[in-house]
Amino acid sequence: MTYSQKVLEDLKVKNPDQPEFIQAATEVLEALAPVVDNDPKYKKAGLLERLVEPERQIMFRIPWVDDNGVVHVNRGYRVQFNSAIGPFKGGLRLHPSVNLSIIKFLGFEQIFKNSLTGLPIGGAKGGSDFDPKGKSDMEIMRFCQAFMNELYKYIGADEDVPAGDIGTGAREVGYLYGQYKKLTNRSEGVLTGKGLSFGGSLARTEATGYGLVYITEELLKDHGKNLKDARVAVSGSGNVAIYAMEKAQQLGAKVISCSDSTGYIIDENGIDVEAVKQIKEVERKRIREYVVTHPDAVYGEGSVWDNVTCDVALPCATQNEINKAEATRLADTGCYAVCEGANMPTDAAATQIFLDKNVLFIPGKASNAGGVATSALEMGQNSIRSSWTFEEVDAKLKGIMINIYYHMKEACEKYDAKDNFVVGANIAGFMKVADAMMAQGIV
Ligand code: NDP
Repeated sequence: MTYSQKVLEDLKVKNPDQPEFIQAATEVLEALAPVVDNDPKYKKAGLLERLVEPERQIMFRIPWVDDNGVVHVNRGYRVQFNSAIGPFKGGLRLHPSVNLSIIKFLGFEQIFKNSLTGLPIGGAKGGSDFDPKGKSDMEIMRFCQAFMNELYKYIGADEDVPAGDIGTGAREVGYLYGQYKKLTNRSEGVLTGKGLSFGGSLARTEATGYGLVYITEELLKDHGKNLKDARVAVSGSGNVAIYAMEKAQQLGAKVISCSDSTGYIIDENGIDVEAVKQIKEVERKRIREYVVTHPDAVYGEGSVWDNVTCDVALPCATQNEINKAEATRLADTGCYAVCEGANMPTDAAATQIFLDKNVLFIPGKASNAGGVATSALEMGQNSIRSSWTFEEVDAKLKGIMINIYYHMKEACEKYDAKDNFVVGANIAGFMKVADAMMAQGIV
């Protein structure tokens, strides 16, 4: 058994109840095999064993009171996975499905994603099984304050800087930040995704979706194709999906779908992104409302990936949303590129189908890194007590995404894995973290 296989087998035994974490670790360790199994220095330093174990994981209770005076208790998490190259950094997910396995998978992925940005940030993730759907503004505020009442002990501008994720947008970050400041008396860049009036960065809201489209455009260009006029299918209708649709349309693509957790929309006239923003960001309603004002569009329940045909697929909702049958159908009906906006939206068997059928595929740790990259730019602006224009931040974001693409491509070529960006992204992300861990000794 090779070194990487042994570490993976031990990890499975140690964490039998963490399928998402094992799925993410399997992908990474298999991709890293050509590097770590051919150089004994990694085994000697126990590097993989240290890489797969979080530096620290914190779980705590979050008691809060609803509008009717009823007490609720949710579970809070912060998994600080790896700080070899900089302070811990990663979002907070608020969704009833949240558990330790999901937070560990996201935190583990974040290590390589953050490294790929080229910026000095370590990997972490957190969240709670709290369901923000249907809660009043005051309930959201009380929950966020209760969450921060414990979380503030473990975070700080040079220690750990959380951000948004599913269920955590500008409103929640605002409440979390307000409570942090109240508890610590400090005005510092301890959270990113803040409002523009208190240290937020222009273009952070748009960054993940825009970054996804920038790297997709570069991928297509590099393979003799063009995003302009391409038929693009998107899933999700949250932060990542909305701004991916907006940028793809600005670049001339025809975006024909989006979805939420109850159903999907296919609009052959092209998705009206302003209408989606109004429904999901302002009114916080279900996506099916879209057909009320757009009668030519079709609404269906179930997964968009069973029903849409496209040239380019941008899954932007959640983990494991594309399965093997859906991947096969997409590839067989002409889809030639899939770039992940969400984290791990393509399950392992579906990923293999895309690779086998020569569908260009970029994993989320590379293609959705624009969000955290811009968060790191927000941290930089907070440190120098200054702010950059939208155009400055957007230009830096685009530069970072194009760099990630060529950095990944270089790793593919070096390890004889042409166009296998799963291998390329993992190796490119790993090298910097591994160098830093080797240099810092056994800690
Ligand atoms: P949002 O909460 O803004 O939106 C999530 C979208 O996905 C919503 O449309 C939601 O539908 C849908 N969704 C959530 N869970 C499910 C589910 N179980 N099944 C089907 N649909 C679901 O989150 P974001 O847009 O911020 O995040 C989307 C993905 O992108 C996540 O994987 C996140 O980790 C990843 N990501 C986000 C970044 C960011 O900057 N925001 C950065 C990098 C990655 P509904 O409205 O019904 O809940």
